[in-house]
Amino acid sequence: MKKEKLFGKTLGDLAAVAARLDLPPYTAKQMAGWLYSTGTDSVEQMTNLSMKARSVIAEHYEVGLSAPDSSAESTDGTKKYLFNVLGNRYIETAFIPDRDRATICISTQSGCKMGCKFCMTGRQGFQGNLSSNEILNQFRSIPEHSSLSNIVFMGMGEPLDNREELFRTLEILTSSWGYAWSPTRITVSTVGLIGPVKEFLERTRCHLALSLHSPFDEERIKLMPIQRTNPLREVLDTIRSFDMNRQRRVSFEYILFGGINDTPVHVKELARILNGIRCRINLIRFHKIPGSEYASPSLQHIEEFRDRLKAKGITTTIRASRGEDIMAACGLLSTMEQNKKS
Ligand code: SF4
Repeated sequence: MKKEKLFGKTLGDLAAVAARLDLPPYTAKQMAGWLYSTGTDSVEQMTNLSMKARSVIAEHYEVGLSAPDSSAESTDGTKKYLFNVLGNRYIETAFIPDRDRATICISTQSGCKMGCKFCMTGRQGFQGNLSSNEILNQFRSIPEHSSLSNIVFMGMGEPLDNREELFRTLEILTSSWGYAWSPTRITVSTVGLIGPVKEFLERTRCHLALSLHSPFDEERIKLMPIQRTNPLREVLDTIRSFDMNRQRRVSFEYILFGGINDTPVHVKELARILNGIRCRINLIRFHKIPGSEYASPSLQHIEEFRDRLKAKGITTTIRASRGEDIMAACGLLSTMEQNKKS
């Protein structure tokens, strides 16, 4: 009989497990302590539970951690891990060390439904939503786990398209009975699904990163089909309707495509539509994907674009490209080949 996994369950889920097995309610907190504070990988090691309790739990459940199948390392120190998920599918996870920061870039889906034109994951279509076990396992099972300082949900998939499992994961990461991480060290990226963005802002205190890429509707539709059903204007209105405290950051990700979205007219329109939102823009150089019509602008052009935005009073940074040689940089994650073989 296939056992259910305990890792990735919230305290509420663990309380339901305890009730189902007719164990005392405090067993839930004990299990959470072993899973998330101690980091045990087997029920047998949960030694403050009675032998009988451990044996009843182990009959139906396992901790359920899984190591990556393989890894690749970039010349810049970025690493990419391949995990088996959903029985016979694959996802990738990136680890990005940078001076005093060590960031993990987590995937929430195998493939993606959003179809952004500049993204390899979008090209592979959608294979399925990851469970909270599979999402959190990436964080827990990379060898650099204990050195991590930041988590970004910017890997494969649209996190807010799998939001119950995402919210479950964020609850475990930020609760005192879980990993007790500050939400200010966690950023969730989205293309801007209006209802889910609202829910995210209501239910969590983590940072939000919105993929913007063009301030003009028709141009954005060509890059990001989601603009048709979830117009940027309405997403920005949703963000504006929240009283953002100083701890929570909203950032806008802006991939620069040479000759397309990198003109002074774009700067002017960005300043207009973002007026009144305390935010920052992260500029990202487009990473070429096979067969793409888009090109990367020069670094000098990116710097000029940044300076124009700064002159409009918008905090703007250029995100360094990391892991491009192992296809781990923004927009390059793909497991199409591995999925075909499985
Ligand atoms: S950029 Fe993000 S949302 Fe768009 S297709 Fe790629 S993974 Fe999906």
